[in-house]
Amino acid sequence: MKVYKFGGASVRNAAGVRNLRRIIGQERQLFVIVSAMGKTTNALERVFEAFRQGDEARAAEHVGSLRAFHAEIIDDLWHGSVRLDSVERLFGELEGDLATAAYRPEEAELWYDRIVAYGELLSTTIISEYLNRSGLRNRWIDMRRCLRTGQRHKDAEVDLEASRPLLRAAVAEADADIFVAQGFIGGAPDGTIATLGREGSDYSAAVAANLLDAESMSVWKDVDGVLNADPKIFPDAVQIAELNYLDTIELAYSGAQIIHPRTIKPLQNKNIPLYVRPFGDKRKPGTVIRGMSAPVEVPILILKRDQVLLTVRPRDFSFVLEEKFATIFSLLERFRIKTNLIHNSAVNLSLCVDDSWHIDEAVDALRGNKFDVMKIADMELLTIRGYNDELLARHASGEAVFIRQITQSTARVVRKRR
Ligand code: ASP
Ligand code: MG
Repeated sequence: MKVYKFGGASVRNAAGVRNLRRIIGQERQLFVIVSAMGKTTNALERVFEAFRQGDEARAAEHVGSLRAFHAEIIDDLWHGSVRLDSVERLFGELEGDLATAAYRPEEAELWYDRIVAYGELLSTTIISEYLNRSGLRNRWIDMRRCLRTGQRHKDAEVDLEASRPLLRAAVAEADADIFVAQGFIGGAPDGTIATLGREGSDYSAAVAANLLDAESMSVWKDVDGVLNADPKIFPDAVQIAELNYLDTIELAYSGAQIIHPRTIKPLQNKNIPLYVRPFGDKRKPGTVIRGMSAPVEVPILILKRDQVLLTVRPRDFSFVLEEKFATIFSLLERFRIKTNLIHNSAVNLSLCVDDSWHIDEAVDALRGNKFDVMKIADMELLTIRGYNDELLARHASGEAVFIRQITQSTARVVRKRR
């Protein structure tokens, strides 16, 4: 079996779906993971925001745009004005969910997952039906039933052992050799839907590759391969031909948009190579990620946006690392604040963390626990692996820089958003 993953950009319109079919070509024994079409997940996040604020009219408006967006793709693929019952049913269920009176703010993550999951349910339903109709017989796989996650919403991890028999059974039972399955979603132990974090479809594909002992995984993207920096931010970016698992994990963790950070482990565990390939041209080699590749030689720049800098100090002047470390981190964990960089002095702990809905609650809780807290918003975290003087001068100096951490191989800079 091979695993192919198609991201939202690759299936953002009917031409993209036809291209997906062309890329599948004569391949069989293929497990295809698909993300939500285009910017559907962002649109569903807006639906959720409106729902959370009790703004039914605005939620309905966003759902209306999503209907129109998907209908246009279907009409184009089917060459006419067509309604697919399966798609209508999904929109009906979404509207049913939004009409509920059961929402409670403590369950924000639970409802978020339930709502945003429709993106992948819609895309795979449309694509599976389209492939069947165009002669590629395939089986639609319901990942809510086949990937068992931990009991944590919005950023769930897959339980590989619990999922293995489920996914293998679904594949074995099916009378097909092409499978179409949702990225990004799974089922929590209590039966609710859990999502794997934004951009989580890569991770889904890696998990499927692990569970099915795939010979390879390919991610079809709107770039030629992995670059050493985001060309939208750093114009002189270059492509990297080969990467090893370790470098890739470091890159993804620092915020490189190449691949979801959790993707590598399930592949590494079974030594499965990962190809990052351009969906626009099947003949181009792309980038291959595998165990034994040499470390990369060009500097790599990764910018993580939407950061907040928290500086925490115990009011009684105790030494922060010796006495207060555990308290601070367990509070942050309680509010699911993700820390990306830590810097300390005797009595101060500075933390560069992801901005989140719960940040002010976390700050209040710290203050309630006898800490002074200073919060600075609109920050970004730049990581430069293989830095040099010129790069440091260009990106890591000036007034906007609050923290610089430099090791032998890597420079990390917390700075005000540019
Ligand atoms: N559709 C989800 C997202 O946009 C998952 C993914 O694309 O990987 O984040
Ligand atoms: Mg995506």
